[in-house]
Amino acid sequence: MSAPVVGRFAPSPSGRMHLGNAFSCLLAWLSARSAGGEIVLRQEDLDPSRCRRAYALQLEDDLRWLGLDWDRGGSAGGEDYFQSSRSEHYASALAELERQGLLYPCFCSRDALHAAGAPHAADGTPIYPGTCRALTSEERRARARTRRPAIRVRVPDIELSFSDGLQGDFRESLARDCGDFILRRSDGVYAYQLAVVVDDAEMGVNQVVRGRDLLSSTPRQLWLQDRLGLPHPDYYHIPLLLAPDGRRLAKRERDLDLGALRAAGVHSEEIIGRLACWAGLLERPEPVRARELIPLFSWQRVRRTDIRLEHTSLGF
Ligand code: GLU
Repeated sequence: MSAPVVGRFAPSPSGRMHLGNAFSCLLAWLSARSAGGEIVLRQEDLDPSRCRRAYALQLEDDLRWLGLDWDRGGSAGGEDYFQSSRSEHYASALAELERQGLLYPCFCSRDALHAAGAPHAADGTPIYPGTCRALTSEERRARARTRRPAIRVRVPDIELSFSDGLQGDFRESLARDCGDFILRRSDGVYAYQLAVVVDDAEMGVNQVVRGRDLLSSTPRQLWLQDRLGLPHPDYYHIPLLLAPDGRRLAKRERDLDLGALRAAGVHSEEIIGRLACWAGLLERPEPVRARELIPLFSWQRVRRTDIRLEHTSLGF
């Protein structure tokens, strides 16, 4: 028998939740609940310059209003479910990778990398050309006098492939498509790639449902899991909601954040119905409660391709 599903909501509390976040949470919730599984809420507030505790609390309120509940985590779960309070977990994973000889300090600034015209990975970060990979300890000491380094991990020249539950087979060359990547920024903030791997394992998460934009991060995460002796969750990368101009729906579409929709008197059932129709679970966008969708849910019915909205006004 397979293990009970443990899914998760992993929002970044850097503003009000928008429809794209609600879409990911709805599908993560339906996938876990339809299998009789549980949901963990982890607040991904690693970046102190962008994330606020007030946004985290607002997110929890918006999730409840949508009818999406969780079994562990969030503010009721204490500091353990806020990434900003979990640094020692990331530090020990980093120490393990250091012990394996995989890390090196990197003194390159982001501007210098962009200016060097390095090719970019699918997520928009420059593929690191390896400038600081082979510095001598003398060179490292000299550079450290004027600049605090980021910490990068040295990736091998291998291809990684995995089977995504929705998108099918995906493969990537770590060295060519991604390059050595950052695990701790020069300001001391741990990188998403490290934190997500450590947290999913420590929180017992075995099913990850998230936007298709993170598909190309998955080989890096699978590789880190192997280095750290952690299990691989099952992955489902879902379509993105796009604004009418084809860009990914984001916090800038203020009219479609939950604050604007709630203030305009839109009912949560209308939003859930619309999201379920976009997902392919309903033929028409009729109002429905999240829990009424549980018996209808199956990954076979969920569309794979991105959804382009016709307007980003309240008529959504
Ligand atoms: N915190 C990320 C976001 O809000 C999600 C990361 C993940 O699901 O792995 O986009």
